[in-house]
Amino acid sequence: MKTNDRLVVITGASSGFGLELAKEFAKDGYPLLLLARRVERMEALQLPNAMARRVDVTNKEEFEAAIREAEAVYGKTSLIVNNAGVMLLGNLANQDAKEWKRMLDVNVMGVMNGMQIVMNDMKERRDGTIINVSSIAGIQAFGNHAAYCASKFGVTGLTRVVRGEMSSYNVRVLSIMPGAVSTELLSHTSKQDIIDGYNDWKESVGAVNITANDVAKTIKYAYELPQSVSLREIVITDTMQDA
Ligand code: NDP
Repeated sequence: MKTNDRLVVITGASSGFGLELAKEFAKDGYPLLLLARRVERMEALQLPNAMARRVDVTNKEEFEAAIREAEAVYGKTSLIVNNAGVMLLGNLANQDAKEWKRMLDVNVMGVMNGMQIVMNDMKERRDGTIINVSSIAGIQAFGNHAAYCASKFGVTGLTRVVRGEMSSYNVRVLSIMPGAVSTELLSHTSKQDIIDGYNDWKESVGAVNITANDVAKTIKYAYELPQSVSLREIVITDTMQDA
């Protein structure tokens, strides 16, 4: 096994992309800080050199405390993947505003919290990488995605701005925009007809083969390029996704 001494922080590491990221980085011996609310799932991975902490990314104090704790053990954060997110699809005309708020809080405020916690150290060290998980719904419109698109267009926009602010410090700020990939993400949508419609579309076009592991490997690839190379925005979908 390779050894690496650069700390990688992954939010939303209890399922989907985040869990696959944890496994991929662990294979190469990176020290890891894994964050999500379901800490037992991350502990169950039993990865070497890894710290798992129960953190809600909307709570900046507990988010920062976990990162400082890991940095005291492993050194400063080299990479943070701001991956934690929720997708509660709905039609704006009748969706509960609590669902909009939750998406904006987790998907936008959570990402900004993660960035701010590490970016000043990265600037000082003139080194580091921030990868924000946006979505193809962060650059394109999809039906029933109004509030989700608002949150992910937000992630795309804020990432572009901060990339410009950090470039002169040699810090990379990237976003990845995945298309539809099977994870737990859709299961939180409260309307069954919307879930069924989404699954029917995926199956009808045949966009069912890309995996969370494919996305994780792509994120790791972008990070492992030389620090002088910034893969600014990555759009990744199943080849058969039509939109
Ligand atoms: P999952 O639902 O499988 O994973 C989401 C992760 O986010 C879980 O680990 C969950 O952990 C965590 N999370 C949710 N809310 C919070 C919170 N408040 N604080 C901390 N962690 C939280 O979905 P994916 O892996 O698919 O999603 C990962 C990211 O990818 C999201 O940002 C999503 O929007 C984005 N994305 C996904 C696509 C897809 O088709 N799958 C397409 C495009 C983008 P826990 O509940 O334990 O806290």
